[in-house]
Amino acid sequence: MYNGAGLVFNIQRFSIHDGPGIRTTVFLKGCSLRCYWCHNPESLGAAPELQFMPSRCIGCGACVEACPLSRGKATARFTPACLGCGACADVCYSGALTLAGKEYRAGELAEALLKDRELMKSSGGGVTFSGGEPLLKADFTALVFTALRAEGVHTAVETASNVPWEAFGKLLPLTKLFICDIKAPDAELHRKGTGAGNELILENLRRLAAAGADILFRIPVIPCYNDSVDSIGRIGAFIKSLGRPLPVELLAFHNICAGKYDALGREFAARGTKPPPGASMEKLANTLRALQLEVIWKQQ
Ligand code: SF4
Ligand code: SF4
Repeated sequence: MYNGAGLVFNIQRFSIHDGPGIRTTVFLKGCSLRCYWCHNPESLGAAPELQFMPSRCIGCGACVEACPLSRGKATARFTPACLGCGACADVCYSGALTLAGKEYRAGELAEALLKDRELMKSSGGGVTFSGGEPLLKADFTALVFTALRAEGVHTAVETASNVPWEAFGKLLPLTKLFICDIKAPDAELHRKGTGAGNELILENLRRLAAAGADILFRIPVIPCYNDSVDSIGRIGAFIKSLGRPLPVELLAFHNICAGKYDALGREFAARGTKPPPGASMEKLANTLRALQLEVIWKQQ
């Protein structure tokens, strides 16, 4: 039985990148893919996770005192025994230890989001649920969106679409815009980069387009993975095959998230990868434009 709560690791106000106007983006924990370039590594696990920044640690020892598993020595952070309870982060006043993942009740979150409703409405903005994979928490998202739509707030989800169709079914009536990633044109390449094939994703996208949903496609451009004219062209051909004039945005890979992997004590498999040059991005944008697709891409 669903308990009406969801685990949020970030609430970003005044966002201008996740849909129209000025928005608040809510990042939920938990994802069904493991993209090796993921720039939100704190989103992947479904449970709260500790983050540690050694440069902020003043060696006060308060975390050791607070940890129920420390036995007077080190805390249990980054060990399999760690409970993710956050007792150490609660007493770390320098900010060296933080806990990614805070539980919200749907009503509590909606109330917090609605404080910005006038700004959202006057800018043509709204609220975007991202992650992680918000459609893994479709019941929670639907509860919050119901409250937001009742107040006339625009709603969007950013999804990798690797979820059962039933999740889309719950959100279709409540979601004004679906921002859908497409990472690779075929199952083999998709599995290599994300750990899962793309058959379910493509089927969901076909059904979503056929249902008349407003969709913005996003392609993360990852050097030495999907940045060839052939790969991007085949993704463009899929979008074209949906038979509707749906826009597509190219997002250039960046590695500024490397510090987040360090803070979580995790390897970052794309650490040595450089962002794609502007000329390469323009070439890929032109590949999509040649298919008469509307392309959004800005030099960063
Ligand atoms: S409580 Fe924070 S600042 Fe103090 S020792 Fe632990 S991590 Fe370092
Ligand atoms: S989250 Fe809890 S169990 Fe893990 S290190 Fe911190 S206090 Fe110890």
